[in-house]
Amino acid sequence: MVDAVIIAIGSELLTPSRTDTNSLHLTDQLNALGIEVRQKVVVGDDREALTEAVRHALQHASVVILTGGLGPTEDDVTRDAVAAALDRPLEFRQDISDAIEERFRARGRKMAEINKRQAFIIQGAEVLANPAGTAPGLWIELPSTADTVPSVPSTERRPSGSRQTQPSASDKLIVLLPGPPSEMKPVFEQECLPRFRRRVPGVVIRSRFYRVTGLTESDLDTLIAPVYTKYTNPATTVLASAGDIQVHLRARCESEDEAERLLAEIGDPIEALLGARLYSTNGDSLEAAVGMLLRARNAKLAIAESLTGGQLGQRITSVSGSSDYFVGGFLTYSDAMKSALLGVDPALLAQHTAVSQEVAAAMAAGARDRTGADYAIATTGEAGPKSNTGATPGTVFIGYASKGHSEAVRFVMPGDRNRVRGFATNAALDLLRRRLLGLKS
Ligand code: AMP
Ligand code: MG
Repeated sequence: MVDAVIIAIGSELLTPSRTDTNSLHLTDQLNALGIEVRQKVVVGDDREALTEAVRHALQHASVVILTGGLGPTEDDVTRDAVAAALDRPLEFRQDISDAIEERFRARGRKMAEINKRQAFIIQGAEVLANPAGTAPGLWIELPSTADTVPSVPSTERRPSGSRQTQPSASDKLIVLLPGPPSEMKPVFEQECLPRFRRRVPGVVIRSRFYRVTGLTESDLDTLIAPVYTKYTNPATTVLASAGDIQVHLRARCESEDEAERLLAEIGDPIEALLGARLYSTNGDSLEAAVGMLLRARNAKLAIAESLTGGQLGQRITSVSGSSDYFVGGFLTYSDAMKSALLGVDPALLAQHTAVSQEVAAAMAAGARDRTGADYAIATTGEAGPKSNTGATPGTVFIGYASKGHSEAVRFVMPGDRNRVRGFATNAALDLLRRRLLGLKS
């Protein structure tokens, strides 16, 4: 299997103000090619530290991709550091210098002398054109004899522009890409992808992506682990956030048929076990899944929010086309607003408090009545950390109303304020989804 290390270069990436996003994009691209990323490293603009990181990476992976530090200034050390790590000289390329000069001229400017630094390439490198910027990328293939890094015998150095089409498994590859994402992405896509496809033929990756709600991560794992632990391929990953779990299955095979067969072998039984808790197989969010159900029924939805403070409306309207089924909602935080806008009986509030099954159901019924929608959902509860009504912090009631019917379900959620509110939003969407599917629980 081909594996890779990504090195992001830039002192700014070691501060809280900038994040290395290039490696996320590159990981996605490499995975799609069947290349596994073993490590991601962030190194400041430090020549020695980078040389060391490149040497280390070459010992641990067959592909090393660097981004950043190809600019014209003193702090751009990537070319120098890689040349040092490979023990190869830098060579001035007049054609690159001319191209950079022309780029400046076309914009009515004169090339600064320091930009000539960008015309130096590491001996033996192929130049990767960068139409969006001045610094070209570099592609350096190291024959298998270069396994022990550094030192490539000079007789084995290939002239620049040569390409090895039949690499052996022990071949190493180093790729230097510009730092700005707007330059890195097109250089990778246009220059690197075709080269990678020639190097790593025959790996097909197919995946399934499940989104699940209504059970905890550990309950989910207890349920499906007996199926997936029998397989290393497809690889299964379970990712959880408040009330929402994602299960990824990834098969890497030599043919598409084989990958699909393996995915069905493990995915079909998992789907059967998850049942109605599985709400999406195509990556759709819960709010999108609920939206599809409403649209299919040609039904309208209204909401009434207390503890979620608008979050429920935000999630519902984040889906493009939600105006087809969402009429609007009420943000009623105080008891007075619950009565004034939703018609919740003040006596009910006085008797049960706002954090109660009765009030949650009345909020939903009121939102439905006052808007003429077919369905309504409501949220009320104690987000914590302190309690205003005497209810345990984390207590959440979700109300639901349809024609001639209203009800509410109680949950107690551990966690901080954000987590409780996020969970309540999810629980409200899920209750609606279950009722639309005709489920009683
Ligand atoms: P450089 O090529 O190192 O001069 O980087 C130029 C600019 O590209 C930096 O100031 C960053 O804004 C951006 N950049 C560099 N590396 C990354 C990275 N790994 N992820 C996201 N942005 C980056
Ligand atoms: Mg930089």
